[in-house]
Amino acid sequence: MNRWLDMLLAQYNYLLRDRNESYEQVKSPKLGNYCDLKTHGEACPLSCSVNKSSSIGYPWKKSQKNPRRSAYEVQSSSLPSLKKQRPWYKAINSTVLQQMLRQLDVAFSKFFKGEAKYPRPKRRSRFRSLKYAPGQVKLDGNRIYLPGIGWMRFHNSRPIPDGFTMKSVTVRRQSRGWFVSIQIEDKSVPVPPVKTKHEIRPDRVKGCDLGIRKLLSISDGEIVQNPANSKKSKRQTRRLRLRQRAASRKKKGSNNRKKAFSKVASLHERVTNKRSAYHWETAKNLSNGADALVFEDLNIKGMKSRCKPKPKDLGGYDRNGQSAKKGLNRVISDAAWGELVKKVEVVAAKSGIPVIKINPKHTSQRCPKCHHTSADNRKGEKFVCTECGYHDDADINGAVNIKMRGLKKLGINPTQLPSVRRKVTPMDITAV
Ligand SMILES: [Zn+2]
Repeated sequence: MNRWLDMLLAQYNYLLRDRNESYEQVKSPKLGNYCDLKTHGEACPLSCSVNKSSSIGYPWKKSQKNPRRSAYEVQSSSLPSLKKQRPWYKAINSTVLQQMLRQLDVAFSKFFKGEAKYPRPKRRSRFRSLKYAPGQVKLDGNRIYLPGIGWMRFHNSRPIPDGFTMKSVTVRRQSRGWFVSIQIEDKSVPVPPVKTKHEIRPDRVKGCDLGIRKLLSISDGEIVQNPANSKKSKRQTRRLRLRQRAASRKKKGSNNRKKAFSKVASLHERVTNKRSAYHWETAKNLSNGADALVFEDLNIKGMKSRCKPKPKDLGGYDRNGQSAKKGLNRVISDAAWGELVKKVEVVAAKSGIPVIKINPKHTSQRCPKCHHTSADNRKGEKFVCTECGYHDDADINGAVNIKMRGLKKLGINPTQLPSVRRKVTPMDITAV
């Protein structure tokens, strides 16, 4: 499987270069006839990626009406010649090769849709999976048949429910071993339609404020703690730091260094697995008894951006707080809000619950009762309105504001304000 991955990786990068250079040649032929831009030798599929006969001028076109074949079709039809020139590629199951092409095609179509950056060549450490098309893989209890590789034993974590058929199967290399994920489908199970405005009850809409100490504060007063603050997790972070340091002190290029870094990777994987399990559970609990979920549309990249440098007149720099921000950036990454929201969207879609994202501006400073917005309203953990004296937990208040904005976006008239649930000492307004 390792050998397959290496071969697929080489071919993936080759085909990516093929697309780039063919496009360049069609756009503005640099050296007259098609030839290798680096060596100036005439192109053939072995010396360089530019294919003389193919013309991938429109890599973004996919329609059948297009007289030119799409880049995927061109590259797909070049597979037989690949197997002729490099016979060792015959060992790879043909659908796995095809799926690798598909992977590249998906990367490009995502780019043209504006969802991703331009595809880049992959490194060995980033190319970790191979995929079988539907109808290839067989299962028999604790054994799995991967065409081209053979029958092997595996840990069957859960049976396939009745009525479901196997779709594509992905085999993935991870630091703790090889994993196989099987996509299953039951066509008779209907996809629930997304709830419309009239089916949503305002009191069953949940606004969710994402945070660091409290992972989630929900508008109905519930709080989901961040497991990263637990004692166990802190111990794990410390162990990770120790292992990381031990590994980076090993001699470069040595086997011991390799072993030490694989230990670091395996611990990282455990942390990730735990977090994702917690996220799935949180997502399930959130969608229970909800008609719609509202989240902030956070600009996580912007939040993690570096502080602006403060140059001194006489050269050098003043402190700009970046070293303090480093810690904040780390906890933002650890909380993995984006991943949580993605999982919530998956779980919510199963019951037709819409997930709405709103602009979070001033959600933590606004009074939901009199709409007075001021930074003075928030005093650490407390929210106390300086105009009307309304008070609540600051994070819950943010969640209520998020919910209100979500309702507005849905076009639903918000009902009366929820009553105060938490004991917060009201501030004496007259004293201010
Ligand atoms: Zn107020």
